[in-house]
Amino acid sequence: MKEIYNTLSQLQDVLARMFEIEDKIKEIPKALADKEAVLQKTKITYLELHDKSEKVKEELKNLRIRLDEAGVKRETSEKMMETITQAREFETLQKEIEDAKNAEQTLRKSLIAKEKFYDELNMKLSVQEEIMAQQTQEVEEETAVKDALIAENQAILDEIVAKKNELAKDLDPNLVFKFERIIRNKGGVGIVPVHSIVCEGCHMTLPAQFVNDVRREDEIKFCPYCSRVLYYEESEDSEHLDALFDASDDVEDGDEEGGDDNDSGFISDDEFSNLDTL
Ligand SMILES: [Zn+2]
Repeated sequence: MKEIYNTLSQLQDVLARMFEIEDKIKEIPKALADKEAVLQKTKITYLELHDKSEKVKEELKNLRIRLDEAGVKRETSEKMMETITQAREFETLQKEIEDAKNAEQTLRKSLIAKEKFYDELNMKLSVQEEIMAQQTQEVEEETAVKDALIAENQAILDEIVAKKNELAKDLDPNLVFKFERIIRNKGGVGIVPVHSIVCEGCHMTLPAQFVNDVRREDEIKFCPYCSRVLYYEESEDSEHLDALFDASDDVEDGDEEGGDDNDSGFISDDEFSNLDTL
């Protein structure tokens, strides 16, 4: 049994390190995912600006056509002025020329404003392009970093797993499976000593009879409170335990007398089922 405790103790360190590396590997892609999300946002902004810019370009084209048309109309009317003979015709033409001039002026104003807006949009577009290029580069760099980090940690993990398998090969696979879960859920500590009648993992007082079973080392015992594997270790309080056993010898059931108020909730016969609640 001592040998199993020793192996479990070594396994404990290996498993704790294994979980640490596994968690680390899981965390590695997060930095990249964050950068990718930022780049995605930039791309969307860029595309929106691009669409807007194309639309404004089309509007500018139409404005120029309408301005040309208004100019042609005015010139035609001006030419006709030279050939008219009647005063009424003159007034009509005069009005047409005036209208065409007004239209030209309005269109020219719109054109100038729209051109300014178009320039601003293109400026923003080129800024977005720069940001996008920068972020793309960052994503590429982060990808390289991620790949290198994962490869590096995977190599470490492979070594640890090999060590773990070496240690576990002589143990009951069921026990190894449970032990892994305990380590995972109990902060890397899966095997603890019992001092006197106290579990050094959770500091709960254990029934004296149960501690006696742990001490006998007939089978692996798990703490009914924290599920950790227990082994008995001599301590300053050990004499106290002997005293308890002496006292319990006098009664039929040692658990009744030898234990204390922690007896309620104690599951001595079914340590394994306790593990399912981990
Ligand atoms: Zn415990």
